[in-house]
Amino acid sequence: MKIKAFIDSHLHLMGMGYYEEILNLSNAKSLAEIIELAKKSENEVIIGRGFNQDNLLEKRMPEAQDFQDIEKPLVLFRICGHVAIANQLMIDLIKEKSDILPISGGSFNLKTGLFTENALAYLYQALPKPTKKDLVRYIAKANKILLKNGITKVASDDFSSFDVPFEMVIEAYLEAIEQGLLDVEVTEQVNLPIKKFEEFCRKDYSNKKYHNFQMGPLKVLADGSLGGRTAALNEPYSDDLHNLGILTYTGSELYDLVKLATINNMDSVIHAIGDRAADQVIDTLIKVQKEMNVKSPNNAIIHAQVLNKIQIEKMKKHQIGAIVQPVFINSDIQIVKDRLGERRYESYLFKTMYENISLGFSTDCPVEAVNPFKNIYCSITRKSADKPEFDAYLPEEGFTMKEALKAYTDNNLRYVYSESQDDYLEIDRDIFAAENEELLSVSVLKTYKNGKIVYERKN
Ligand SMILES: [Zn+2]
Repeated sequence: MKIKAFIDSHLHLMGMGYYEEILNLSNAKSLAEIIELAKKSENEVIIGRGFNQDNLLEKRMPEAQDFQDIEKPLVLFRICGHVAIANQLMIDLIKEKSDILPISGGSFNLKTGLFTENALAYLYQALPKPTKKDLVRYIAKANKILLKNGITKVASDDFSSFDVPFEMVIEAYLEAIEQGLLDVEVTEQVNLPIKKFEEFCRKDYSNKKYHNFQMGPLKVLADGSLGGRTAALNEPYSDDLHNLGILTYTGSELYDLVKLATINNMDSVIHAIGDRAADQVIDTLIKVQKEMNVKSPNNAIIHAQVLNKIQIEKMKKHQIGAIVQPVFINSDIQIVKDRLGERRYESYLFKTMYENISLGFSTDCPVEAVNPFKNIYCSITRKSADKPEFDAYLPEEGFTMKEALKAYTDNNLRYVYSESQDDYLEIDRDIFAAENEELLSVSVLKTYKNGKIVYERKN
C-alpha cells in the first residue's frame, strides 16, 4: 500500500553512520561475549556501543577489570550513550591528554572505569577524531539507512556527537550535498555548550538554510537516562534510594541558553527524561517566554518519560510540545518497575500527551533502531518486541494506527520546519489490516522524494 513517508523528529544522523563502523554490542547476552567481540577488533582503540547491562547474563555493569586481558585502550558506551566504561589503558590515554578533575553534571570512577554525562567529555577528547571525509561518509551511510526505512525528513543532533568544531559538521553536510550523497532533508538541532552557542549566534548561523540542510532549534540535554540512573527525579530511584539522578545544568545556565536562543529567533527542544528535569525545563521555557513576551509553539521536551498529568497540563497551557520515542518501551519495559516503583503508573503517558499537546514520534537513533514500524508497534501495543514475555505497559496509553501515523508525519512537520509531507512510500502490506506482530516485518518497497524514486528494494 501507499503511505506518507516518515519524519523522524529527533535522531543523530552522523552518529548513525558512525555506529555502522564501530563494535555493535546491542545483541550481547553476556560479559564473556562482549570481551570476545572486543578481542576480535582490529582497531587501535576499541570503541563499542549499545550494550545494556539488563540484557547481560551477569545483570551488572561491566567494569575496567573485566577487560584487563585486552591490550588496547577500550571504551564501551551503554545503549543510552549517557554512560560508558573505559579500561585501564583507556584511562591512561585520557590522563596523557588532560587531568581527570571532578566535573559538574557528570561523574567518573577511575577504579571501575565508569564515566557518566559531562564526564564523558574526557573520553571523547582522547578518542581518535574523525576527519571531514569521515563525517561525509557517515552522512552517506545514514542517508541510505533512512531511505530504506522510508524516512525522508529528520531533525538531527550532530554538533555534539564528535569532538570537532561545529563548522566542520556544517561543511561535511555541504560536501555531502554537493556530492549527491544526501537526499534526506535535515534540520539541525543545535546542541552546543554556551560559549560555542554564543559563537554560533555571533557568526549568524542561526536559521541558515542550505539546500536540504537547515539550522533548526537549540537542543539542550537537561538530564541523563533512566537505564543509567542519571535521569533527574524529584524522589530517589526506587532501586537506589540515595540517588536523584543528574541535572546537567543549573537553572540559570539553562535560562541563559534558552534566552540566547529566543533572542536569535530559535526555538528550544530540550532532552528531559526525569520529572525533576522536566520541571526545570518547563519553568525555564515559561520564564523566558513571559519575560520576552514571545510565543514559541515549536518548543518541545524530547523524551518526556517520567512526566505526570499535572506537568502535561502545564505544558498544554504554555504550548510546550513533546518529541517521544515509543520504541524506548522496548528496552525500558524491564526496568520501569525497579527504577520508578509506583511512579511507573504516571510515566510514558504518550497517548495522554497526544491528546493534549503537540506530540511527534522519533527514535533517537542510534540509541534505538530507526525502523518506524517497530516504533509504531511499541506505540500501539505498549509491548516490547524483543521481550514479549513482559505484559503491555499501561496499555490504555496505546495509539491506533491512524494516530501513530499522524504522530510520525503531520505532527512532526513543525519540528523539521516543513509545510507538508509530499514524499511517500510503497510498503509490502496493508498495515491497517495487519496483525500487530506483523508490523515488525513490514518492509519498504519504494521511497519517493519529490516524486522521484530514491530507494527501491532489490529482489
Ligand atoms: Zn538523542
